[in-house]
Amino acid sequence: MADKYLQFLELPRQDPPKLPVTARVAEFREIYAPYDAPSAAQQAGRCLACGNPFCEWKCPVHNYIPSWLKLLEQGKLFEAAELSHRTNSLPEMCGRICPQDRLCEGACTLNDGLGAVTIGAIEKYITDEALKAGWRPDLRHVRATGRRVAIVGAGPAGLGCADILARHGVHAVVFDRQPRIGGLLTFGIPPFKLEKSVVETRRELMEGMGVEFRLGVEVGPDVPFAALLAEYDAVFLGMGAYRAVQGGLPGESLPGVVEALPYLVSNIRHELGLADGEPHVDLAGRRVLVLGGGDTAMDCNRTAIRQGAASVTCTYRRDEENMPGSRRDYRNSREEGVRFLFNRQPVAIEGSGRVSGVRVVETRLGAPGPKGRRVAEPIPGTETVIEADAVIVAFGFLPSPAPWFAEHGIGLEPDGRVRVLTRGARRFSTTNPKVFAGGDMVRGSDLVVTAVFEGREAAFGILDSLGLAAATRAA
Ligand code: FAD
Ligand code: SF4
Repeated sequence: MADKYLQFLELPRQDPPKLPVTARVAEFREIYAPYDAPSAAQQAGRCLACGNPFCEWKCPVHNYIPSWLKLLEQGKLFEAAELSHRTNSLPEMCGRICPQDRLCEGACTLNDGLGAVTIGAIEKYITDEALKAGWRPDLRHVRATGRRVAIVGAGPAGLGCADILARHGVHAVVFDRQPRIGGLLTFGIPPFKLEKSVVETRRELMEGMGVEFRLGVEVGPDVPFAALLAEYDAVFLGMGAYRAVQGGLPGESLPGVVEALPYLVSNIRHELGLADGEPHVDLAGRRVLVLGGGDTAMDCNRTAIRQGAASVTCTYRRDEENMPGSRRDYRNSREEGVRFLFNRQPVAIEGSGRVSGVRVVETRLGAPGPKGRRVAEPIPGTETVIEADAVIVAFGFLPSPAPWFAEHGIGLEPDGRVRVLTRGARRFSTTNPKVFAGGDMVRGSDLVVTAVFEGREAAFGILDSLGLAAATRAA
């Protein structure tokens, strides 16, 4: 073997093994097998330990990436897990589902023809294997403060907040209207990207840290928000963004047209045995058309393929390069048999009594719009109809503020996101000084890792507001 620091020249990037397509599409299980220990250590050893690691800057939680890669290479699995948890509350989930190509791995120095270090797969490996080997967060030094904080929402933002509070001796009580924790990690993202047992393991871990979950409880109808304000020292809101963007297309209410999230959730509840008599949206044998090009659209494509759809076609109004969905999920969709039609904008959903197709117009990319992305401009005279028996609308999500925010002085931005301070001692506090917020309800629909970051930062803001010294990024 050449010099250690030239190891990357001899050892190419090797992703963990992936199930063959025929096996993948037959079940709702994760498609990547874990590394074995020697492969994980070797891949970690490809890191150049750059002096100023851009991967850390590009990672939204600023993970100490080269340091935990080094620990793993040296066989110090528990130390790597401990260090990984100092900056990330859900490393095993981010390792699985972050769009690494545009975050940490996109910024890796080796991502220049040599193949970026497989940071995500190694992050997942560290936590999965450490937990299997008996590692648990060491909270022996933590002293109870007697303070209590209510958290509304057990999604990534709420879990990130609860993690930091527990590590500082604050009793976190997490309310969620769903029967399980995870937010969209459980009731949104399909099991072929993230198996639900991974989320359940995290629940056990957090309960072991003293976090209390009150599930199946909707704050508002079941527990008045005023009761939380009265009973707790502070409240964190991590309630997500759930208003589906409507295309405003004629024919959207025809039978056979379904919204993306209810479709995905119906399948997950069915798989988990939670459906309890609810109708299961099963698209076996159907010609399915998915409208949209984001992560949600990719998840619908691949769910329909696994349900045994006769065909799955995905249309997106911009081109391949400008499609927002994760490249990995796009590649996996194609491998699994999804057909993509780019530069197609839906104009109307057609059918008499039931959907029979979608009228689309071809587009070309024009000048950048107000958000900096090039606008898709319809080309006159290019309309055609794509036949389909089922249409899934996946145009994204908008903020969904609760009706009780105003009466409690929780102010909103003009687009419905909750307004917070993002800097300073009281970071992520809302316009009600006792209430903090983070995640999709503050940023708009985004990523798991950014929600985790905001939940953690809000916890530091809460600690500051309660006069409790916080070990920033540590504990
Ligand atoms: P959520 O995860 O939405 O959690 C909010 C929680 O609050 C929910 O559990 C909800 O039940 C609860 N809640 C709301 N109101 C109340 C109330 N009144 N009382 C009690 N509980 C309440 N991101 C990635 O990084 N990678 C991906 O591959 C990816 N894929 C995605 C696929 C899909 C289909 C979707 C929809 C999103 C995907 N995302 C992905 C985005 C990611 O899931 C979200 O950005 C992230 O989950 C936001 O976290 P959050 O905690 O802010 O909100
Ligand atoms: Fe990369 Fe996401 Fe892990 Fe950060 S949290 S190192 S962006 S996979």
